[in-house]
Amino acid sequence: MKNFSPNMLKTYQSCPLKYNLKFNEKITIPQNPAFFEKGKKIHALANYYHRGADITKLEKALNESEREIWKRLKNNEYFSKKCLHSEYPITAKIDDIWIFGRLDAIVCEAVGEVSARSFEVNEKDTGTCGQLGPDEEKCASSHSYWILDYKTGSIPKNPEKDFQTMIYLLCADLILPPRKSLSFVYIDLKNNENKVIEFTPELKEFYENTIKQQCREILATKDFEGKENREHCRFCEYNKICRY
Ligand code: SF4
Repeated sequence: MKNFSPNMLKTYQSCPLKYNLKFNEKITIPQNPAFFEKGKKIHALANYYHRGADITKLEKALNESEREIWKRLKNNEYFSKKCLHSEYPITAKIDDIWIFGRLDAIVCEAVGEVSARSFEVNEKDTGTCGQLGPDEEKCASSHSYWILDYKTGSIPKNPEKDFQTMIYLLCADLILPPRKSLSFVYIDLKNNENKVIEFTPELKEFYENTIKQQCREILATKDFEGKENREHCRFCEYNKICRY
C-alpha cells in the first residue's frame, strides 16, 4: 500500500520516469535554494503569525519585495479570517487509496466568543490528522471553511483540476464536521488576486474518480517511461542523470 501526495501525482503526470527516480528510487538532486527562499520565508511568517507569535523582528528582516508580498498576505480577506489550523498535515483514505498533504491553513468565518475559543490553533493538534472537539462540532455546522494556499510564484493553470486542489479538498471534507460550505483558495501574491474553488458534490465525485484512477495507474505501472514531449526536460532537475 502506498500513500500519494499532490506532488507525486503531478510528477507522474509530467513524466513517469521522473516519478520513478524521485519516489521509487528515492534519488534526490539538490536544487538552487534561492528559487524557494521567498516562498519559505512568507510561509514561515504566516505560520508564526497565525500562532500568535511575536514576528516583529522577522518582519524587519524582510527585504523590500518580501515586505510587499507579506503586506498583501496580511491584508488578504481570507488570510484575515479565523485560523483553525496552520501548516497542518492531513491524510485520508478513498477506497483502498491513501492520500496526504500539508495545508498552509484552514480558516473559518468569524464565530462568537465561546465558539472562537474552541477554534484556536491547538499545539497538540499539529502533527496529527485533524479531529475536532465537541465544541467545534457543535458550532461548525453553520460555518464556512476555506483551505488557504499562499503562492509567491504562479498559481496552477487549471486550479479546479489541480491534484493539490483535489487532495486537499477531499481530505478536508473527511476531517471537518458538517458545514455550510468548503472552498479552496489560491492566494496569488504576485498578482494580488484570489482564485476560489467551491467544493460541490459534483466536484467531489469527479475528484474521487480522478484520484483513484491516477493512483491505480501508478501502482500498476511496471515500466516508467519518459514522456515524448521534451520541453519540460529543460527545467527538470534529473536531466543530467536521465537516460533520455
Ligand atoms: S529529463 Fe525529461 S525524461 Fe528525464 S526525468 Fe526529467 S522530465 Fe523525465
